[in-house]
Amino acid sequence: MSAPVVIVGTGLAGYNLAREFRKLDSETPLLLITADDGRSYSKPMLSTGFGKNKDADGLSMAEPGAMAEQLKAEIRTHTRISGIDPGHKRLWIGEEAVNYRDLVLAWGAETVRVPVEGDAPEAIFPINDLEDYARFRAAAAGKQRVLLLGAGLIGCEFANDLILGGYQVDLVAPCEQVMPTLLHPAAAAAVQAGLESLGARFHLGPVLTRLQRSGEHLEAHLSDGATLACDVVVSAIGLRPRIDLAAAAGLQVNRGVVVDRHLKTSHANIYALGDCAEVDGLNLLYVMPLMNCARALAQTLAGNATAVSYGAMPITVKTPVCPLVVSPPPRGHEGVWTVEGQGSDIKALCRDTSGRLLGYALTGAAVMEKLALNKELPPLLA
Ligand SMILES: Cc1cc2nc3c(=O)[nH]c(=O)nc-3n(C[C@H](O)[C@H](O)[C@H](O)COP(=O)(O)OP(=O)(O)OC[C@H]3O[C@@H](n4cnc5c(N)ncnc54)[C@H](O)[C@@H]3O)c2cc1C
Repeated sequence: MSAPVVIVGTGLAGYNLAREFRKLDSETPLLLITADDGRSYSKPMLSTGFGKNKDADGLSMAEPGAMAEQLKAEIRTHTRISGIDPGHKRLWIGEEAVNYRDLVLAWGAETVRVPVEGDAPEAIFPINDLEDYARFRAAAAGKQRVLLLGAGLIGCEFANDLILGGYQVDLVAPCEQVMPTLLHPAAAAAVQAGLESLGARFHLGPVLTRLQRSGEHLEAHLSDGATLACDVVVSAIGLRPRIDLAAAAGLQVNRGVVVDRHLKTSHANIYALGDCAEVDGLNLLYVMPLMNCARALAQTLAGNATAVSYGAMPITVKTPVCPLVVSPPPRGHEGVWTVEGQGSDIKALCRDTSGRLLGYALTGAAVMEKLALNKELPPLLA
């Protein structure tokens, strides 16, 4: 049998690519390899699960067996690839060599961890996949107080969701506002006020330095000297694209695995997409870019070389207490911000000197204006 197209990873990138590829080619052998259990799920739902009262099984959309049948593919679960040998077009799973026709890296990003002193590091839960989510839900069952580390998009979404799930939330982050890299301060203030109106307590500035058991509970010591009592900790301090195996194989890496507009790495027959990929200089950790990449790469793998393009890609943040849509200005574009509105309804627009819209942040009722504004936004990868 001829060597298969091998996709490493069964997240949204891996499974969507496989689906798109099968629309074009139903014959070429397809092998998906994943370190996790291979269940198909929508990762954005991880930060709405408590509000919707869905556990990990409730969020799972299909078992790997059903996916294998649907995709006419072999799926190897709980299997971690340990190396790539581009010269011989094979990869390694421990001692086992697997040949490929084309190899696609869709192995995502891993959660950033920072060292914390104390005797309770196992009470800190990153949540970046279904299995993490299941572990956290089990740990949080019957508990009341959650300490959230990180005030980025995911930290804020978890704060809103955990409160909807009945938890008290303290949020600690070493920044002056929520979502500092994404949001205009006026929009950030609206989101923070919305979360505070639900009862979230923000501790912006310090970091967690020590986590200590104290009877049934935990004592969190912050770098500003404060101490908070909590029962369990969620870490949402960031994601780092997985690049180590690619770098070890001699592929070009930067923030992510470097690929061109055809999603091709620096080595022939090896491609990347999703959270691990840096596409023409952009490493966007969102669903919309990976869907565009999946469609383009499927064409390329089916023999019709196709470059990916990104239009404007506004991000809808799942903080229902204060709806938020944001489209940061594209890289290298400096503009001037204007802010209209007040309270929870903020319209912050960024325009260049000729008045062209570069980006926006809309909260509350201003979110209604997104469709009209989207038409004016520049594409991210034309
Ligand atoms: C809580 C949360 C909420 C989010 N909400 C939104 C949202 O509302 N909108 C939005 O656009 N984006 C959102 N995102 C981001 C979006 O979900 C991700 O960009 C997307 O799911 C990434 O998919 P992926 O397939 O690239 O990576 P992943 O889903 O991380 O998949 C990586 C796969 O690679 C496998 N793998 C890793 N290493 C190996 C190895 N060595 N060998 C074999 N397999 C390996 C893993 O097991 C996994 O199957 C959210 C993210 C999170 C965490």
